[in-house]
Amino acid sequence: MLSLSSIFGVDEVPAVVQGPVAALLYLCLYLAFLNLLRHVRNWHAVPPVESIGVAILGVALLSVVSLSPGGADLTAVAVCAVFVGGILFTIATASITLLDSPLRLITTLAKHADHIGLWVLPVAEGAWFVAANPGLRAVLLSAMAVELAWCLRRRRADRRRLLRPLDGSDLAVIEGQAEGDIKSFARKHNVGELVIAGDTVSWLGCTKESGACPGYFYTSRLGINTPSCCREHLGALCLLVADCLTEMGVVHWMDGGTLLGIVRQDGNLLAWDDDVDIAFTLDGGHSWDTVVAELGRRLAGAGLLMTSTRKEGVICVFNESPRTWPLGLERNRLRGELRVDLVLYRLAASRGQSVVERTGPKGDLERTESGAYGLPENLVLPPATDTFLGKEISVPRDADAYLRRLYGDYGEIRYSYMDAGVAERRRRINSDEI
Ligand SMILES: [Zn+2]
Repeated sequence: MLSLSSIFGVDEVPAVVQGPVAALLYLCLYLAFLNLLRHVRNWHAVPPVESIGVAILGVALLSVVSLSPGGADLTAVAVCAVFVGGILFTIATASITLLDSPLRLITTLAKHADHIGLWVLPVAEGAWFVAANPGLRAVLLSAMAVELAWCLRRRRADRRRLLRPLDGSDLAVIEGQAEGDIKSFARKHNVGELVIAGDTVSWLGCTKESGACPGYFYTSRLGINTPSCCREHLGALCLLVADCLTEMGVVHWMDGGTLLGIVRQDGNLLAWDDDVDIAFTLDGGHSWDTVVAELGRRLAGAGLLMTSTRKEGVICVFNESPRTWPLGLERNRLRGELRVDLVLYRLAASRGQSVVERTGPKGDLERTESGAYGLPENLVLPPATDTFLGKEISVPRDADAYLRRLYGDYGEIRYSYMDAGVAERRRRINSDEI
């Protein structure tokens, strides 16, 4: 085992030094790991430099823990590695479930990610007695403190939820997926928002202060609708961002599932949409930097968190307040989030045709000459208008052709976003067979 003893010839380190150094390294490792999770949540590969940074912190932590008067304390190292690895893995499951088809173990752990602190306590107490190593004990104490604080903050946030009746299609779909037994369904899948009192079924709806419901998990794994609270917040967020872009004179249009909802669902969000897609271009004196700066200023005024990644050309607006470092990093532990994704489309020429193209893939969009993904400019610009949630909103010039490029025969509902088992039942619910 690589240890400080072997590197520096240090045989004995006072507990008064080893403990605080180990605790500090654990906190650094925890924060670096949370920071890394933002890539996972955005479906991006983790940059090697960040992975290496986390690995170096992990090795440094184990090296400090290994120090003991009698040589490397391998028992303490093993306990520390399993304990810290287990915590970090469980924390990561909340972000991994935002991706497609995670393993059942990950889904199960993610359901309990908000109260991992309650699991850590007994495990840490057991480990405390196994190894009387000051470094390990400092790590255990630090982890317990962090997890308990997280657990208590989540409980306090959950108290900001508001009970709302569940009815119409939302209730019918849950009844269908639960095969009539909503109580067992809620218990089995840990759907804490479902409140059943007698014959009345309600939903503990999210607010900006509570954090979002884990909508993607509910729609893709359980086959139910995006909760009405989340749909309302998404709709309001979309209209706000679109208003900002209009006032700034930024050319934009509704994209992806949001455009599909406008065209196919009579100006509404799709019942299972868990984000909003808006596309924009840069012309008329705008640059990436000016759009990010001006939009950021306006959204900060509205108390909303915004992030941007120039490389991918994506700006994200979240239905949550910005928080100061390092607490802001802990949003990467949340199971749910409500966001508007603003994606930059560049004006370009491809195979002798004017196109608008984006860096990342989307639906069935074709590759352009530059290796990006795009479609003919004349299908998009100048944008037209349509109605979204009763308000006028910008859409591609030929929304029908645009959607065909994205999704083919978009008139037919696809259930590809859903697990196979629940998708079949959902198909039967939608066709009134259940
Ligand atoms: Zn919600």
